[in-house]
Amino acid sequence: MTERYADVIIDIAHEKVDKVFQYRIPAGLAQSIYPGVRVHVPFGRGNQEKIGYVVDISSETDYPAEKIKTVSAVDEKGMSVESRQIQIAYWLKSQYGSTMIAALKTVLPVRQKQKPLEKKRVLRCLSPSETAQAAVMCAEKHQRAKARMLEALATEEELPYELVRQKLNVAASTLQALERQGLLKIEKKTCYRNPVRVADRQENRPALNPVQQQIIDAVVNAYREGHPGVHLVHGVTGSGKTEVYLGIIEQMIAMGKQAIMLIPEIALTYQTLLRFYKRFGDRVSVMNSTLSAGEKYDQIERAKAGEIDVIIGPRSALFTPFPNLGVIVMDEEHENSYKSETSPKYHARETAIQIASMCGAGVVLGSATPSLEAYYRARQGQYQLYEMKERPGNSVLPAVHITDLRKELKEGNRSIFGRRLRELMEERLSGKEQTILFLNRRGYAGFVSCRACGHVMKCPHCDVSLSEHKNGMLICHYCGYQERKPGKCPECGSPYLLGFKAGTEQVEEAIHREFPGARVLRMDADTTRKKESYEKILSAFADEEADILVGTQMIVKGHDFPGVTLVGVLAADLSLNRNDYRAGERTFQLLTQAAGRAGRGERPGEVVIQTYQPEHYSVVYAAGQDYEGFYGEEIAYRALLGYPPVEHMLAVLIVSRVQEEGERLGEKMTELVKKEMGGTDGLRVIGPAEASIGKLSDLYRHTLYLRHGDYQVLVEAKDRLERFCREHEQREQTVQFDFDPMNTY
Ligand code: ADP
Ligand code: ZN
Ligand code: ZN
Repeated sequence: MTERYADVIIDIAHEKVDKVFQYRIPAGLAQSIYPGVRVHVPFGRGNQEKIGYVVDISSETDYPAEKIKTVSAVDEKGMSVESRQIQIAYWLKSQYGSTMIAALKTVLPVRQKQKPLEKKRVLRCLSPSETAQAAVMCAEKHQRAKARMLEALATEEELPYELVRQKLNVAASTLQALERQGLLKIEKKTCYRNPVRVADRQENRPALNPVQQQIIDAVVNAYREGHPGVHLVHGVTGSGKTEVYLGIIEQMIAMGKQAIMLIPEIALTYQTLLRFYKRFGDRVSVMNSTLSAGEKYDQIERAKAGEIDVIIGPRSALFTPFPNLGVIVMDEEHENSYKSETSPKYHARETAIQIASMCGAGVVLGSATPSLEAYYRARQGQYQLYEMKERPGNSVLPAVHITDLRKELKEGNRSIFGRRLRELMEERLSGKEQTILFLNRRGYAGFVSCRACGHVMKCPHCDVSLSEHKNGMLICHYCGYQERKPGKCPECGSPYLLGFKAGTEQVEEAIHREFPGARVLRMDADTTRKKESYEKILSAFADEEADILVGTQMIVKGHDFPGVTLVGVLAADLSLNRNDYRAGERTFQLLTQAAGRAGRGERPGEVVIQTYQPEHYSVVYAAGQDYEGFYGEEIAYRALLGYPPVEHMLAVLIVSRVQEEGERLGEKMTELVKKEMGGTDGLRVIGPAEASIGKLSDLYRHTLYLRHGDYQVLVEAKDRLERFCREHEQREQTVQFDFDPMNTY
């Protein structure tokens, strides 16, 4: 019989996670040792007995056999919260391909010593009406941050300090000034517990409509009856999904269970967080990227200790180790940020479903534009599907106009604003209403090419085109390389080396030129480098400090600007012309979400979609707010080509210092799959080929794509390829796996 070995971690503290010790598994324990199990092992010189966790099992060892010690016993206390976390890590490693260490680091929190947190609250000192009056006076003096703070306090008796600082974007000095004026009080309390306690929990809770109540009942009853399942709520923006989540979580808490509420970081706004604080008071906690490692660890400890019932946060909040998890809710389920970009490249949706099934919890997915994955499975009956087609109250969906940019050009309009959009913008400017202009393309990837010979200026280290900035520099957005724009073409010497102008910066310039006097704010990756500036721009716009907000993807997510009655999409095609099977889906989502930004207040909204391809189905269905129509067409295309979600796909990315070596490794891997798995019906192997970005930061990239209807067949292929790579250890080469990738490489 072959020996089997257990990889054991003695100290589960994060910094020590890389210290893995191998122990022999005695035959008698072979059945009871698997990842997650707690074991007793002899440790160190004196063979002192210690408790450790098994993180992996193998049949190979790098140590001489006689040096390896043997596991003494399986710990009687059984499985702990840590055991479950290790099992989750093991699942991530097996399903997505990564090292066990990387998987453990994803799941386990970083332990860090930290001084006790000083938690603060902002309290109202005057009556609500006096506070509101003070707010008006500040607004008249153009003290906008003060006004914002006082307005919030006029409705809330107290607010968590963090929420005020980070989400309301009020500076510490402003708060101190207001405190000196006697308008508010900052209360400090040194404690371990979360001080969030919104005093008057008299939130004005809307009476649920029958659809909302039905969904809540269905989810809760399924849980009570012992088949918690996965539920997909498809509801147009503003249809009351968040109210449904709140209702479900509330009932879970009443049953003594806990809830994980996943929200993309970008949508963790003041308004959203406040709704949760108001409903759940100090039993809710927020996890986000502005927290330090120590603060995150603190949150996890509190969750483990049962001090909180709800955690709200992006992807990583998924790994909160609640003792009695009842439900995982995932809002904006279709968001790309739910997929990890580093190894293990897990998807939060699939991982949530796995974790929930381990804990006996339910999963609720919600979106106005569900991912093809989720909708497909709902249609197949794997998920329960619920539809919310209307907005409560008298808020109506906006009217959508499509502008054909080809026609505009033919008729002599060379501006980036079509005539319809320009007209409507002018109306808004004179009526003091706000406009959002949206460019669905990251940054200003305006490339520079020679109009005479077609030569494109590219980064010498990456196979991507350089972008022109206003200061005359050409910049690589992948590696940061910069050079001054040459006066003439380096290929042919022609002076007509020009930028393709379609970035947010250019849009801003065009507005200044064509609408003099309009106040503009711009939001893109460049203006939001610093974390707080993101909140700053949004709160300035919400305060109506500008008439027009220009931005990329990030402005269409989850923000309510009641003053906005017009949304313009400048060139809908920019996200279509990409060599990517998800391009149609992404365009549809972006357009639909952008349209949902208009008319969230009292006044009805209008949307203008400008495009060179008005006949494209993504554009047509988005304009008609017709998800089902879009889904029907898109899924047929995926089925025809064998793309996810109909089949599964594994992308293998080989990164190497020497081009030929990457190529060779790709070929060997292809051969191996064909040889060892050639008999598997329906397995398709494509490649190896140069990646669409063939070179990045001086490293060459090759890809290999595998497709099959059964995910586990691809996992098997991944395991074989991993083993092959281990046996033929490559120096200066790395191999990454990505299942059902969000982008093609
Ligand atoms: P979504 O999450 O789908 O965008 P929300 O739950 O945020 O929708 O609801 C949109 C708005 O409608 C919110 O202001 C919310 O308070 C309100 N609302 C939700 N449900 C109801 C209801 N049953 N009656 C009246 N207003 C409601
Ligand atoms: Zn040239
Ligand atoms: Zn570069």
